[in-house]
Amino acid sequence: MSFSALTARRVCVVEVEADGLTGIGESWINYPNWAAEERVATVLQGAAPIVLGSDVSDPSVVQERLIAQLRGLGRQWGAPGPIWQAISGIDLALWDLAAKRAGLPAHELLDGDTNRTSLPAYASGVGPTDVQALCELAMERGLRAVKAKVGFGRDADENTLKTIRSVCGMTTRIFADANQAWTLDEAIELTRLMSDYGVEWLEEPIDGNRLNELEALYAATGMPLAAGENNYGEDQFVGLVKSPAIHHIQPDPAKSGGLTMAQTAATAARNSTNVSPHWYGAAIGLAAAVHLGAANTSVDWIELDVRNNPLRSDLPAHGWVLNDGAITVPQTPGLLGELNADVVAQYQTKEVERRKNAE
Ligand SMILES: [Mg+2]
Repeated sequence: MSFSALTARRVCVVEVEADGLTGIGESWINYPNWAAEERVATVLQGAAPIVLGSDVSDPSVVQERLIAQLRGLGRQWGAPGPIWQAISGIDLALWDLAAKRAGLPAHELLDGDTNRTSLPAYASGVGPTDVQALCELAMERGLRAVKAKVGFGRDADENTLKTIRSVCGMTTRIFADANQAWTLDEAIELTRLMSDYGVEWLEEPIDGNRLNELEALYAATGMPLAAGENNYGEDQFVGLVKSPAIHHIQPDPAKSGGLTMAQTAATAARNSTNVSPHWYGAAIGLAAAVHLGAANTSVDWIELDVRNNPLRSDLPAHGWVLNDGAITVPQTPGLLGELNADVVAQYQTKEVERRKNAE
């Protein structure tokens, strides 16, 4: 990313047991390197006591309770992200649990407006390294769109875009993500470069992600903008939906408040704004994004990281199906069925093992 290298993949898997069933959720911990230790503490010490022993049949009711009791703590801690991400892990586990109890795939429980069986996916994570190989991989997998990682200086960014165009051809659609690398003035200048290569939307271009600056960039360039992976709470997503600059909102089911908040954001966006769920984590978050898309016409693309990540590809007991550039919606009860226990054991951290042994 433009702000820091991601040198390892991590996931905090959250399990909630009730009625002899186990719901499995994901809390996002890509950054920082020590997020796993923090998240285990926030989930077990902060969130779990609010949930344990209570009626968890309606995830949205539980989420309301979690938000009411934890949001103020997160504000004063200066850590709204970890709080929302912990809530997300529990929320996804509860949706998985509710769907397993109902014997239905999770999307059938969402308050959406459609029922789709597959969603178009775009290749994410392309640049600034390995661009040619990742583009070739995306084309081999039949993907029709690629998102460039930009914000590494004009020459590196242009090289990424040029390579994408030359490997993927003129019919492949290109998006770009700057991870808040630029000032407003830099963004105005570099957005022209993006336009030259046919970039259709630009994600988080400006440092600080302030809506007034994003609107100024849109007014100056007309480039459709995307945001949401670092926004928390319903009011922020509604604010993005109302802004003329934001053409794509990007709730992340493992960051933004689980499927409950992603569905709330998708409902707010219905008939006005595209929903392109952010996802750069493990298999459970990806499954949740796909279920959101299965139930909501406003979801236009599923983000599919094409770099090697066994937490995406090997963690589910049943693998992903990609067909003609589209990802097949899982139809097993829950979010994605069960995890592959051998893969979990292979990657589980020593800290979790130590806790298990101490029990
Ligand atoms: Mg992004």
